[in-house]
Amino acid sequence: MTAMLPYGRQSVTDEDVAAVVDTLHSDWLTTGPQVDAFEADLARWTGGVGVTTVSNGTAALHVAYAAAGVGPGDEVVVPPMTFVATASSAVALGAKVVFADVEDETFCLDPAAAAAAVTSRTKVVAAVDYAGHPADYDTLRTSIDGSDALLLADAAHSIGGTYHGRPVGSLADLTTFSFFPTKNLTTAEGGAVAALDPRVLERARRFRSVGVVRDRDALRLQDEGGWYHEVHEFGLNYRLPDVLCALGRSQLRRLGDFIARRSALVARYNEALADLDGVLLPARKSWADPAWHLYPIRVLDGRRRQVYDRMRATGIGVQVNYIPAHWHPAFADLGYRRGSCPVAESFYAQQLSLPLYPGLSDADQDRVIDALAAALRVGSVRSAA
Ligand SMILES: *Cc1c(COP(=O)(O)O)cnc(C)c1O
Repeated sequence: MTAMLPYGRQSVTDEDVAAVVDTLHSDWLTTGPQVDAFEADLARWTGGVGVTTVSNGTAALHVAYAAAGVGPGDEVVVPPMTFVATASSAVALGAKVVFADVEDETFCLDPAAAAAAVTSRTKVVAAVDYAGHPADYDTLRTSIDGSDALLLADAAHSIGGTYHGRPVGSLADLTTFSFFPTKNLTTAEGGAVAALDPRVLERARRFRSVGVVRDRDALRLQDEGGWYHEVHEFGLNYRLPDVLCALGRSQLRRLGDFIARRSALVARYNEALADLDGVLLPARKSWADPAWHLYPIRVLDGRRRQVYDRMRATGIGVQVNYIPAHWHPAFADLGYRRGSCPVAESFYAQQLSLPLYPGLSDADQDRVIDALAAALRVGSVRSAA
């Protein structure tokens, strides 16, 4: 019995392990030199936009919304085709989430739907780079023009991708990353926030360090002793330790290779599945150079459940990304209704993620392709009978 092929998996080398071990033997386990170095390394991928590391991608969203000033009475516009944290982290700050539908093709936030959802209370419009394909940021920017809302990119899937040749991390006022093991690079748990405005970045940094202010010029009482610090705005402890930043730096050195291998696998899927009846393949816009995180197909004719069950039974760990965020009972109990985002909801009913990660071999990918074709064949024989 061969092990289940997962839909996503980390690639960890001996160099990664050595980087972690070296840091464990150093003077610093948490906030030390690896944190600053990892943040500087990340800023090379964001086109120089400043970055602060945080303890995970959900924390990154919480920090980013807090840095944007989101609080009770504010609204945050979010697409439902995402992991629930894009929305729930805004709720955690007392904001009201307004779901806006996605575009039919990329399944990223639809600029027209976002524009329709914006009100005078909107603090942030959050787009998600679904599957690693960037949202249409220039059009989003234009469509929310005239509002004071900041634009946020949830780039948990898309670090290393580009939009019109510009890097992810430089496309929105705030960008959040996740370094969970299935993502494009990992620190086990980890994340980061990039912000165009250095003052917003400074607020993000403070929030992730309990709100503590130590910079003497910023203190209200400047004649206290060396121990003295102040909290001006409440924050939380969302620091990413030195040990994990060392892992992140080591991983980041291979991000280009990871993305290249993911792209090659996407090209192989595209070719092998092009003529397969009963499925639709992911689309790419001409202006996007995605860092593919998922390979999301659509299974037609109401057969997604069947294909999921059959592939799982043969050891292929297909996944569904995502349950529309507003369907979760926590949102339903607040009065959010099914049917409000029909594009995302009908996509969900068909969506299936095939395994995609740098360590996936061509032979294993061929197994996935054969298993998908077989799963579709069995059903069609039955329905013809
Ligand atoms: C993974 C993910 C998150 C949350 O990241 P964690 O590191 O798991 O907390 C947020 N948004 C999206 C789109 C994600 O895929």
